[in-house]
Amino acid sequence: LSLPETEKTGNRVTVFVRVRPISKKEKEAGSRCCVRIVNPRDVYLTEFVNTNDYLRLKRIRGRHFTFDACFPDSATQQEVYSTSTSELVEGVLQGRNGTVFCYGATGAGKTYTMLGTVESPGVMVLAIKDLFRKIKTRSCDGNHAVHLSYLEVYNETVRDLISPGRSLVLREDKQGIVAAGLTQYRVYSIDEVMTLLQQGNRNRTTEPTRANETSSRSHAVLQVVVEYQVRDAAMNIINSVGKLSLVDLAGSERALATDQRTLRSLEGANINRSLLALSCCINALVDGKKHIPYRNSKLTQLLKDSLGGTCSTVMIANISPSNLSSGETQNTLHWADRAK
Ligand code: ADP
Ligand code: MG
Repeated sequence: LSLPETEKTGNRVTVFVRVRPISKKEKEAGSRCCVRIVNPRDVYLTEFVNTNDYLRLKRIRGRHFTFDACFPDSATQQEVYSTSTSELVEGVLQGRNGTVFCYGATGAGKTYTMLGTVESPGVMVLAIKDLFRKIKTRSCDGNHAVHLSYLEVYNETVRDLISPGRSLVLREDKQGIVAAGLTQYRVYSIDEVMTLLQQGNRNRTTEPTRANETSSRSHAVLQVVVEYQVRDAAMNIINSVGKLSLVDLAGSERALATDQRTLRSLEGANINRSLLALSCCINALVDGKKHIPYRNSKLTQLLKDSLGGTCSTVMIANISPSNLSSGETQNTLHWADRAK
């Protein structure tokens, strides 16, 4: 018996790029726009840094990158949500897990995309709003329970963002890896969710050196679990559970110079272990590897049941249009390109 050559069973990660508008500060610093979206899927970086020569930051000709979709600076929060995440919300209602990440340098627009503002709520809020709306249209809507948790991974320490306190220990139980003691809030309305998220975000770790800024090194993970009972063909009651994880990742800038090194050599080097471990897992998934190294960091352990397998993974790479950030932008686009 000859088996067909194993197909490359790489897990697809959907990758989007979002360019934010140029900021006042960037304008005042005299920056030019170095990012061009040539068509809905292609980004052209007009100032490309030679990666073999980071120190001299030698600029060579531009580069093209292709993604599932590129959002220009005029894209609305609703457009970004509908294109990137609404399908995952539908999946959660069918009992599947899904994860959306925002990746990029500090200041590139990750928190704006994920959380947004009160006037322009982001993916986290729009997803839960959509979830409530979809549940309402179901005949058995009273039967659905929506629970939410919001945590932070900072320096490989896990903390509850809504009820901050001691750091949480990760434990493996029947359901998988859980943060012991993490509060699961049952939520009933979108206003309530807004309040919880704003409150949670104020609790994100602040770097001592940047007094009023939430840390660029913390990963914020919102998990929304939808549970309901259905009857199967034999009229047995079965539980449907789906989980959506929405992750505002730490700034990618520190990972830049150390991209080539292994996790082990980074021990104690004050590098964001979870971010690098996530890159390794995503690369392994995309390459169809059997072994996915989830155990290497807190973030990847927490997301073990939400990456790979039948889960949908979405990556939104956030970039600034300014030539002053072209090195970081290039790094983000390379990273996102590899995740496809
Ligand atoms: P990050 O979380 O990646 O560090 P932020 O989301 O905080 O970056 O964005 C930096 C600044 O740019 C914030 O003031 C934010 O409001 C603004 N900003 C980011 N993306 C957009 C956008 N698409 N439209 C308008 N303002 C944006
Ligand atoms: Mg942020």
